[in-house]
Amino acid sequence: MRRYLIAGNWKMNTDRSTGVALATAIAEQATDLKDVDLLVCPPSVYLAPVAQALAGKAVALGAQNMYFEDNGAFTGELSAAMLNDVGAEYVILGHSERRHVLGETDQEVNKKTLKALEAGIAPIVCVGEKLEEREAGETAAVNRRQFEAAFEGVTPEQVPSVVIAYEPVWAIGTGKVATPEQAEEVHADLRQLLTDRYNAEIAGQVRILYGGSMKPGNAAELLSQPNVDGGLIGGAALKAEDFIGIAKAA
Ligand code: PGA
Repeated sequence: MRRYLIAGNWKMNTDRSTGVALATAIAEQATDLKDVDLLVCPPSVYLAPVAQALAGKAVALGAQNMYFEDNGAFTGELSAAMLNDVGAEYVILGHSERRHVLGETDQEVNKKTLKALEAGIAPIVCVGEKLEEREAGETAAVNRRQFEAAFEGVTPEQVPSVVIAYEPVWAIGTGKVATPEQAEEVHADLRQLLTDRYNAEIAGQVRILYGGSMKPGNAAELLSQPNVDGGLIGGAALKAEDFIGIAKAA
């Protein structure tokens, strides 16, 4: 059985005090959510204070990105060891904003995925098509390409700790959520790709999250789909009540 994972991607939002307050409020309201894993991913400069606020609490900590080299002359980058050091258990990789605004490639996402796994950090590998790709009938092909590239070299033993997030780019921050059927279709495709690449047992252990305008009001329907194992939440992760509302829908 896969446990639901509800993950908050705070993006470039909050500051030290509002971030700590948000994490604290989420942890306080999370106490009766025994069947759902909760995760918050603050901006990297606030990982340490948020980690402190979450010490001993049932909410995990994740980063929004990392680099694939161990250390050295990579100005502005963060290593997997640094994330381990501050207590990040997850890292979001290949988010569409990084792919399409900051030019991150499939190959970089792959290298980062392998490095995170080597360091014992669970990668949340994001895939998703743009609107023009969906309209051109390329949804399955785009998601397959991003999936295959990211999983190159990932061993069968490592796969269960990888999380996939399907985030249609046209649904992110737009209020235009995918229908449960649209989400399930891609999630089922991704599960099949995992089965083809590994096997059904391994594929059955991987959590596939949906992301893109998920809110308390639309979460239950999305999360009731057989292959939707949680959510990667942006806007609605910035209010503890909304984030917990989504988790309660799981
Ligand atoms: P959104 O963002 O919930 O604000 O659409 C989701 C994400 O980008 O992870």
